[in-house]
Amino acid sequence: MDGRTRSILARGRLCCHCLLLEGERGLTLVDTGFGLGDVADPQGRLSHFFLTLLRPDFREEMTAVRQIERLGFGARDVRDIVLTHLDFDHAGGLDDFPDARVHLLGVECDRALRQSSWLDRQRYRPQQWSNKQCWRIYGPGRGERWFGFDCVRGLDGVPPEVLMVPLPGHTLGHVGVAVQAGGRWLLQAGDAYFYHREMDLERPWCTPGLRMYQTLMEQDRQARLRNQDRLRALKAEHGAEIDIFAAHDVPEFERLSGRSAQIPERGFAPQTASG
Ligand SMILES: [Zn+2]
Repeated sequence: MDGRTRSILARGRLCCHCLLLEGERGLTLVDTGFGLGDVADPQGRLSHFFLTLLRPDFREEMTAVRQIERLGFGARDVRDIVLTHLDFDHAGGLDDFPDARVHLLGVECDRALRQSSWLDRQRYRPQQWSNKQCWRIYGPGRGERWFGFDCVRGLDGVPPEVLMVPLPGHTLGHVGVAVQAGGRWLLQAGDAYFYHREMDLERPWCTPGLRMYQTLMEQDRQARLRNQDRLRALKAEHGAEIDIFAAHDVPEFERLSGRSAQIPERGFAPQTASG
C-alpha cells in the first residue's frame, strides 16, 4: 500500500496532508482531514465500509484544530477552508471551524448532495457537514489559466495567492489548490495521485494497493489519468518553481513539513508553510 511496509499483512501508513496559510485576514486551511467528531464517534459519522477497509488511526492530537491550537491560534481564526473535494477524509474537520467559509466546486457539491450511488453514500458523509450554510460554490472557471491549467481565482475573501485548479477524475469536482508563497508555488494536488513515484518523469509507478484504491474511487478514469500526465508535464517544465504534492503520501509530507507524519506540530514555527 505505502511502498514502505514489507509484508502484505502489515498495515501501510498514509497521511492526510492539510495546509495552513497565515495571511493578513486570518488563517486559510486547505483540506481538513478527519475532525474531532470523527475521533469521538467514527461509527456514527463514517461508513462501515471505509472504516473496515482503511482502519484510520484516530487521534485527537492529530486533528487540524488541535494542531492549529498548538500553534497558538483558535478555531475561530480559521476564516476560510478550501477543499480539494468532499470525501470523508478531507471534509471531516469542517465542523471544527464553525465560522469558516468553505470553498468548493459546484460539481463536487452537487454530486455529494445527490448521494446517487452506493459508493457515493460511503464516501460523502452528510454527518460531517453541519456548516453547509457557509459553503461558497464556484463554477469551473472563467477561462483563466495557471501554467496551462484552468483555474478559479478570486475566491470570496481568500487571499489572491490561493487558486483552485480543477483536476477532475478521483471525483468530478476534484481540484488542486495552488498557493503562491515566497516567490514559489505549492500545489496541493489532493487525490489526483496517491504515491510520490506516480510523478516520476521516466518511469511512473504506483504501489498495487494504491492503484486498486484509486481505481475503486475514480469517478472519471480517463480524466484522472490525463490529469496525472498533465501534472508530470507540469513538474517536468516547472518543477523548479512549483512543489507538487498529494494529500496522502507520507514521504512528501515529511519532506515538506520537516517532521514525522506520526506526530503533531510541536509549536509555533514562523517558517511553517506546510503541516
Ligand atoms: Zn483522500
